[in-house]
Amino acid sequence: MKKQFAVIGLGRFGISVSTELYKLGHDVLAIDINEAKVNEIINDSTHSAVGDGTDERTLRNLGITNFDHVIVAIGDDIQASMLCTLLLKDMGIESVWVKAQSYYHHKVLDKLGADKIIHPEHDMGNRIAQHLVSEKVIDYIELSDDFSIVEIAAPPHMDSKTLLDLNIRARFGITILGIKRGKDINISPMADDQIHKDDILIVIGHKNDLKRFEDSH
Ligand code: ATP
Ligand code: ATP
Ligand code: CA
Repeated sequence: MKKQFAVIGLGRFGISVSTELYKLGHDVLAIDINEAKVNEIINDSTHSAVGDGTDERTLRNLGITNFDHVIVAIGDDIQASMLCTLLLKDMGIESVWVKAQSYYHHKVLDKLGADKIIHPEHDMGNRIAQHLVSEKVIDYIELSDDFSIVEIAAPPHMDSKTLLDLNIRARFGITILGIKRGKDINISPMADDQIHKDDILIVIGHKNDLKRFEDSH
């Protein structure tokens, strides 16, 4: 179902939100105080307008009260971001999502009634880290400062190779304790057991050796 969104502030975040919403087929009104920014989004929004998001008359003239969702993506000017949020909530906008710059900004936005507060840099950093890790290491148990057990997805190049073929203990000094395959788990893998491509390997070893093994993919 087609929804109506207004995005106020067209920095990298605001532009990217607007463009994606528009691509997904929704109506997007994109607003910025800077005309050059507005020109950037003309072809990727339903309407675009130059305007100050801290001016109630401007917002009303743009018909902002007809929008169910407004995203405040004013960046460095924290005062403007807060005033804009206050006005929008006062005007009765149902859903106001705001990009925050700092912990204090976040706290004030919360008090002003912002419905969702976003920290794009922080959230994206988090997700990237999780993605980096989850691609290989699934779980992790620290045995000591030096030794741990990790669960790691079998890399594609190990498909159909036996432990002997791969010569893992000799090459990396680590030991495969178990091989998970779907619901089954082989808890005493032998040298001639094969690894399959969707297997999960449970591996014990020195952190440096485990790292070498992870990086060898
Ligand atoms: P990003 O990291 O997403 O690139 P930023 O956090 O660096 O953005 P700024 O570039 O400071 O944020 O601001 C985003 C946009 O908000 C700018 O294009 C700026 O012109 C616009 N802006 C600032 N004040 C207002 C205002 N009062 N009304 C409307 N737009 C505003
Ligand atoms: P090792 O010299 O390691 O004691 P081995 O001469 O007794 O091995 P096998 O036990 O058949 O011979 O193992 C041959 C090779 O297969 C090992 O050197 C090792 O590289 C690999 N291997 C066998 N089992 C495992 C395991 N559980 N984890 C990692 N590698 C294994
Ligand atoms: Ca920024």
